[in-house]
Amino acid sequence: MSKGKLVVISGASGVGKGTVLGILMEKRKDLIFSVSATTRPPRPGEKDGVHYYFITRERFREMIDRGEFLEYDAHSDNYYGTPRAQAEEKLARGTVLLDIDPKGAMQVRQTAPDAVLIFIMPPSMEELERRLRGRGDTPEDQIRMRMKRAVWEMEQRTWYDHVVVNDTAQRCAEEILRILAKEA
Ligand code: 5GP
Repeated sequence: MSKGKLVVISGASGVGKGTVLGILMEKRKDLIFSVSATTRPPRPGEKDGVHYYFITRERFREMIDRGEFLEYDAHSDNYYGTPRAQAEEKLARGTVLLDIDPKGAMQVRQTAPDAVLIFIMPPSMEELERRLRGRGDTPEDQIRMRMKRAVWEMEQRTWYDHVVVNDTAQRCAEEILRILAKEA
């Protein structure tokens, strides 16, 4: 029996989800973060088992074949997925926060109809591009690819339960906290 709900948070790369999620986890200590598996290499400061489980493509494919993902998707040449066993174990303890893209969110919606889906928007496309460049660790071709993907991702917001704008991380987090107070 699960105790909590799945709360999905999506938003284009560079929208500042990390900061917002940090505030949410700080303010609601009962929220449990779902750690995804990915084939992309760690960024500076990212820790295995904390931010992601960094695994090889072979291992990822093996997990797909065994049905070990609640959902997964390919994104910028890498795979990302939510390990099913981990999500179920966390759900037995409380409300679980998933930072996943719209393709994953769609799969969650199908398997868990009571999941709460929240989409974070940038204040504008110009601001999103500025934030992507501001990180300074992404090559130009990847920035173009991510901007293109961002447009597609933002079109998906229509079927989410809630859309919130990240004008400032603090205000955006407060709006999400109000949603969670009602729904999760
Ligand atoms: P990043 O490489 O910047 O950490 O993440 C890139 C994108 O992958 C983000 O939009 C993030 O939400 C998404 N993502 C991270 N983990 C998962 C996952 O387990 N499943 C899916 N479908 N997307 C994920």
